[in-house]
Amino acid sequence: MGKLENKVAIITGGAGGIGKVTAKRFLEEGAKVVLVDLFQESLDQTKAELEALGEVMIVQADVSKEEEVKNYVNKTVEHFGKIDIFFNNAGIEGKVAPITEQKVEDLDKVLAVNVRGVFLGLKYVLTVMKEQGYGSVINTSSVAGLHGSPDVTPYVASKHAVVGLTKSTALEVAPYQVRVNSIHPSPVNTRMMRSLEEGFAPGQAEAAKANMEKSIPLGRYGESEDISNLVLFLASDDSKFITGAQYRVDGGMGAL
Ligand code: NAD
Repeated sequence: MGKLENKVAIITGGAGGIGKVTAKRFLEEGAKVVLVDLFQESLDQTKAELEALGEVMIVQADVSKEEEVKNYVNKTVEHFGKIDIFFNNAGIEGKVAPITEQKVEDLDKVLAVNVRGVFLGLKYVLTVMKEQGYGSVINTSSVAGLHGSPDVTPYVASKHAVVGLTKSTALEVAPYQVRVNSIHPSPVNTRMMRSLEEGFAPGQAEAAKANMEKSIPLGRYGESEDISNLVLFLASDDSKFITGAQYRVDGGMGAL
């Protein structure tokens, strides 16, 4: 018997690195998954990779657009009748540059996905979960949501905002037995990290990676599997007395 038998889980950024591996983990534990992402083609490909493991529904959406968020929530409820788990995970990295070279548009672009997208997902999914009287939400922040990081100020600001969204919504929905927590990964081996390495040291991504790995006490980047283990814990009843919490999954960076 899996830990998520017959649960219905929405995963945004579901065709990306952490999202796809978490979808696989959820399916292996008996859940049905709804994958939300920007591009139909990557969703089709992800569905083809995962559907042997269980029921996979895909919905193309830009999480920063209210009508599209309403649509993925409505489609899930129409098809499955409920939402047990919401992995509110889609995000973008933004420009790598000192604040003196960041434009207002650079800030707005990151906030649209990482803050408005998370806000809208919470707004519409929590409407359903409050009514149900159960549910678990996991918002993806970052170690950059707990401390500063030079040259990625818009990203850092957006991930700090996710902490505020998590804490305040957790308090609002606790009386309905709905839980909301955030996760805080250090660098993880995905497309996003490769793009950031290139941003920090153009043409020297390998050197940038080696440098960053040295700053992580366990000496390596996280893998998406490392993150999905934590998400599974927070999604399942193993964490049923945990809400409003910030969970690091960071190879020891928090102890520095
Ligand atoms: P990724 O780029 O592989 O995946 C992100 C996914 O989100 C992509 O599939 C992308 O298409 C999707 N997405 C982006 N904008 C979207 C939008 N407007 N609407 C719908 N989908 C959209 O990167 P990842 O590492 O898997 O990132 C997942 C989450 O983890 C992000 O929130 C990221 O900030 C966070 N995170 C990543 C790291 C890391 O080092 N990789 C560290 C800490 C936190």
